[in-house]
Amino acid sequence: MSAAVTVFPQWREHARCRGADAAIFYPTTEDEIRKARAFCATCPVRECCLEHALLHRERDGIWGGMTGRERRRVLRQRYGGV
Ligand code: SF4
Repeated sequence: MSAAVTVFPQWREHARCRGADAAIFYPTTEDEIRKARAFCATCPVRECCLEHALLHRERDGIWGGMTGRERRRVLRQRYGGV
């Protein structure tokens, strides 16, 4: 993913998860992680969601289809030791 993604302010209004149980995005098992990723995979604002999480250093939960560990890896790749 490019760092050039523009996060438009109203992205949450278009989120597929809007109104969904937030617990889906705080999985505790691999199976739950897969379900959350599948949910995000068809979200029209997945990239904005991910960039928001990266920008705000969200540590927990699935954002943009990525776990916290995966997001930290992206940050390290972009900016070095984060
Ligand atoms: S990518 Fe996933 S967590 Fe982010 S807004 Fe879309 S459905 Fe919600």
